[in-house]
Amino acid sequence: MLGYEEQEKLIDNILNTFEGDMARIILEMERLIQRFMFNTNLSTKEILDFTIMFNEALVNTGYYEAVNKMVGSDYDKLLPLVIDSYKMGGFITAYTADDLTTVMALKAMEANKFSVMASSSATTLRDNLYRYSLGSFTKEDMTAQLIEDFKGTNITRYANTLANTAITEFNQAVVDTKAEGLDGAWVYIGVFDSVTRDYCKCILKKKHYYTSEEKAVMQNDYKRKYQCRHIFKMVTPEWAELHGYSNSTGVDCV
Ligand SMILES: [Zn+2]
Repeated sequence: MLGYEEQEKLIDNILNTFEGDMARIILEMERLIQRFMFNTNLSTKEILDFTIMFNEALVNTGYYEAVNKMVGSDYDKLLPLVIDSYKMGGFITAYTADDLTTVMALKAMEANKFSVMASSSATTLRDNLYRYSLGSFTKEDMTAQLIEDFKGTNITRYANTLANTAITEFNQAVVDTKAEGLDGAWVYIGVFDSVTRDYCKCILKKKHYYTSEEKAVMQNDYKRKYQCRHIFKMVTPEWAELHGYSNSTGVDCV
C-alpha cells in the first residue's frame, strides 16, 4: 500500500548491508583494542589518548565509511519512493531546491548520531581503562576487561538499532517535509505481524485518517520510539475514504 512494500524491501537491504559492515567492524575493533593494549606502557598520557586511538581505529575499520555510505548515498534511494507514494495517495509533487537542502540537513542530523555514539563509547572505555590502571590489575586482566567493556558499549550493542531507527526517522522526515503546504490527511501504514508492537497494532486496526496535529502526537509517542517499522503517509481524504479509512475523532491509542 502506497509503495510501502517496495520501501520496506529497500530499507531491509540498506540495513542488512550496514549490519554486515558492523559485524566486521566490531571484530576488527576488538583486535585493534588488543593491539593497543599490547603496545601500551599504560602511561597516563597513553591512557588519556585512548579515545584518539579508538577514533582512528573506527576510521581504519570503515565505521564512518559505512555510516556515510548508508546515510550519504543509500538514503537517497528512498527519495523517489516518497514522491511515488504521494502520487499513489493523490498528490503530484516533486522536490524543490529547498527540500533538497532540508534533506541534506536531515542526513547530517542522522549521521551525527552515529558519531556521538562512537565518541561516547570511546569515552566510556577510556574512563574504565584509567580506573583499571589505578588498581592492581595485570595488563592481561585489563585487556580482557576492556574487551568485555567494549562488547557492552553503545556502538557494539546499539549501532544496528540506531541504524534501524534513524532510517525510519529520516524517511518520515522527508515525507513530512513534502507535506508542508499540502492539504491532506495522514494514514498509518506498515506491516501487521507477530513482532508489531501493541501500540502500532492499535493504530493500524483503527483505520482512521488523521489531522497533522493528531499525527504529530501519535508519531512522537514513546511507545514507538525505537525500531518502529511504520510510517504516517499523507493522502487525500478521498483516497483515504476509498481505501476503507474513516475520519478520526481525535488521537487514538493513547
Ligand atoms: Zn511501529
